[in-house]
Amino acid sequence: MNYVPAPDLLSGRTILVTGAGDGIGRTAALEFSRHGATVVLLGRTTSKLESVYDEIADAGYSLPGIAPMDLATATVDEMVELANVIASTYSQLDGLLHNAALLGQLIPFEAYDMNEWMRVQHVNANAPALLTRNLLPVMKQSPDASLAFTTSSVGTRPRAYWGAYAVSKHSLEGLAMLLADELENTSNIRTNIINPGATRTPMRASAYPNEDPATVKTPEELMPLYLYLMGPDSKGENGQLFDTSWLDN
Ligand code: NAP
Repeated sequence: MNYVPAPDLLSGRTILVTGAGDGIGRTAALEFSRHGATVVLLGRTTSKLESVYDEIADAGYSLPGIAPMDLATATVDEMVELANVIASTYSQLDGLLHNAALLGQLIPFEAYDMNEWMRVQHVNANAPALLTRNLLPVMKQSPDASLAFTTSSVGTRPRAYWGAYAVSKHSLEGLAMLLADELENTSNIRTNIINPGATRTPMRASAYPNEDPATVKTPEELMPLYLYLMGPDSKGENGQLFDTSWLDN
């Protein structure tokens, strides 16, 4: 994507990123901050969130919020509490990037551990629905809010041996399409889907252990799209799947 974001593109905007401690989410949180946003870092490993916090603070960007939360076990009450804290601290939420995900097992369906299946489904599909449901009121306080869900090529078209990861991402795409349709004429929230394609992260290394990471694009290369979707320039985009897997070769 040739989009060149303005340096202060996200000034005055508050954006929550799930899975902000590592991989694409970490890079997105840093880039959003660099472009003026106040970010809320949600993730399950507090030390990783603190490291992102420190990097943002050391750079002199707007100080982020930290929301330690394991999406596998977080209760509805904890999500309601998070939404209340965001509403009272920031008064509006201008962006929500659903990025956290679990890979689960890459094996035949018949061999899949069904407890793991349910955990992956919960983190990748149910938790984003629960979070979105609770954060919609504070997103509606924004004149121009962006809701983005992260899928995968195997989510758009599930493939053999990708198990609960593929099925959960397929479900997540369904939720995104439902919300895009439902919110388009009833709110100022736009809803879109990102497929980052092969990207150099811990998840990619775990899915492709024999791959040379140097052959895979970095999270930084994805950032023009992520900035575009979280900023005002993407106003009017709704119900779209932004597929960057074409960048892979
Ligand atoms: P990653 O390196 O594994 O990072 C995922 C982040 O999500 C980590 O910070 C992780 O926390 C967090 N997370 C996982 N389970 C969580 C839970 N239960 N509660 C809260 N946070 C949790 O993954 P990534 O490659 O950056 O992937 C980011 C997104 O892009 C995912 O939705 C993935 O499906 C999608 N995607 C990635 C690729 C790729 O090639 N990388 C391709 C297509 C789609 P910890 O660090 O504490 O484990």
